Amino acid sequence: MRKLKMVRKFLSMYLLFPVVVLLLTPSAGYSLISEDQLLDRTFRIDISTITVSFDYFPWEYYVDCRAVVEFTMRPGQSRPVIHLAPAIRDSNVVNSITLNGEALNFSDESDVRIIGFEGTTQQAIEFQRDLEADTVHTLDISYRLTLPEGYPRFSSKVHDLEGRGNEELFPTINTPHELARHFLTFRVHSDTPFRCIGSELMMETFSTVQEWSLDTERELASYTVMFVLMPEEDTILEERIIGGVHVRIMAYIGGASIDTAFDRLEQWLPELETNLGPFPMPRGLSIFLVSSGATRGGGMEYYGGTITTLGALEHEVFHLYYGCSTVNKTFRDSWMDEAITMWYENSVDPEYSPIPENYMSNIVSGRSPIAVGFDRRAYTKGAQIMEAVARELGGRAEMIAFLSYVHGNYSFTPFTTLDFLDYLRDYSGVDMTDRFLNWLYMGDETGYAAGPASRRSSHEDEVDMTPPEGLLKKYGIYNKRRPK
Ligand SMILES: [Zn+2]
Repeated sequence: MRKLKMVRKFLSMYLLFPVVVLLLTPSAGYSLISEDQLLDRTFRIDISTITVSFDYFPWEYYVDCRAVVEFTMRPGQSRPVIHLAPAIRDSNVVNSITLNGEALNFSDESDVRIIGFEGTTQQAIEFQRDLEADTVHTLDISYRLTLPEGYPRFSSKVHDLEGRGNEELFPTINTPHELARHFLTFRVHSDTPFRCIGSELMMETFSTVQEWSLDTERELASYTVMFVLMPEEDTILEERIIGGVHVRIMAYIGGASIDTAFDRLEQWLPELETNLGPFPMPRGLSIFLVSSGATRGGGMEYYGGTITTLGALEHEVFHLYYGCSTVNKTFRDSWMDEAITMWYENSVDPEYSPIPENYMSNIVSGRSPIAVGFDRRAYTKGAQIMEAVARELGGRAEMIAFLSYVHGNYSFTPFTTLDFLDYLRDYSGVDMTDRFLNWLYMGDETGYAAGPASRRSSHEDEVDMTPPEGLLKKYGIYNKRRPK
């Protein structure tokens, strides 16, 4: 089994990803490196904790932030990087940086540079210091986030399809396999009472201002961390226990129906627990339920939570199993989260057809392992690829048992598409390597990354958090939908 794995790794390294593994190095010309080496060279650090305090001034539309990131260097790496998108766009947002206690100047190239990488649009902040291996290093950054004027809300707004994560709000490494424990503190500087929900433990703490703290209690991908802060009087919050899971649903007054959401979850959560295993987050499920509005729906899943419309509710909650606890290693491997989620919905139809044997695509190979976002064909062709796996295993029930096995054994151990094939073979003896290579690596289509809009499913829509018209008017905002 080991040998087979090695042969396949060799094939994948040297035949399938020539662009990825051929890197120009200044001294030795072209060199061949593995995917793991590429990830280490790009992301450089292994974060253990991210601690951020957010001082939110809702009527002034800004948030003063102080973040402390503790990390070690990845194998063979010495020069650290971090992602913090607002600072990359505008260096003026940074007030101060210290690295291991040394003050650095963000505008001085001998301290800090903004760098890019072949294969991704994502830039990084590189600190011009070489750090020791096997030692915990500390980065401390103070910065200011400017929020759009209009409705007073401060929240995570991740868009996984485009690979935009919480590096919009705090310093992290934005790639699914980089797991860290998060400690976030939110202080709202306003006499208006606010409400706060989010991933995991959200404790209201006593202070001179309104304050909440969030502890993810375990290491997880930054782009799965959720929080929402909004004026309490604009919202309704209801809580229920469903099958032992503590469920909190918040919605705008005059917005989506919390009762409808609870009714559907009364069916859905027990079904998922029966089929896939215990609910993956010990503190339950927090939902910010938004109205469908002008869009067809949409939603985004997070660890222990979702910001979603009713239209995408079941889809997003399914992702708490596949997406937020069973995590893929890179964004391009995240086609699997969508494919599995869509497959689970689509395969209820007995007419649902598997991917044709002769199908070829570059859903995985069409982008670098360090690129952000994933291929939109995940929702359609990807789901049909999962149907082909199901047929191979004997049907829908057998596939669900396999998915339960993978979830049970590989949660929080990010894996690639090829690893998934290993798990399939370990579990059932079925080897679909040749077919997966054709279906996901050997095609040469171009232009699919963005995808034709007409073929988008509602789950691809960016979730729209605009409040109902009545609430907008209350704040003197008239028909001013924020630009997407
Ligand atoms: Zn999805």
